Amino acid sequence: MNHIVIDTEKCKGCQLCVQACPLGIIRMSTTVINKKGYTPAEPADPEHRCTACTMCYQVCPDVCITVYKE
Ligand code: SF4
Ligand code: SF4
Repeated sequence: MNHIVIDTEKCKGCQLCVQACPLGIIRMSTTVINKKGYTPAEPADPEHRCTACTMCYQVCPDVCITVYKE
C-alpha cells in the first residue's frame, strides 16, 4: 500500500508537510521530541488513504520524507 516514512531525527517541526497533505494524514507528534529538540511530524493514516502524491515530500525543506507507492 502507499505510505510515507518520516525521518524523525532530521525533522525540524516546521509543519509544512502537515499543511501540504491534501488528505490531512500527517500530524505533529504528541509524544516524541527528537535529538534536535523538535517535535517531529508523523504519518496518521490508519485507513491507508495515502495516494503517494508526493506533495509532502516536495515541501519538506530537510528531505525527511520518503514516499512509497505500491
Ligand atoms: S504522499 Fe500525498 S497523500 Fe501521501 S502523505 Fe504525502 S501528501 Fe499526503
Ligand atoms: S516538512 Fe519536513 S521538516 Fe517540516 S515538519 Fe514535515 S517532515 Fe518535518
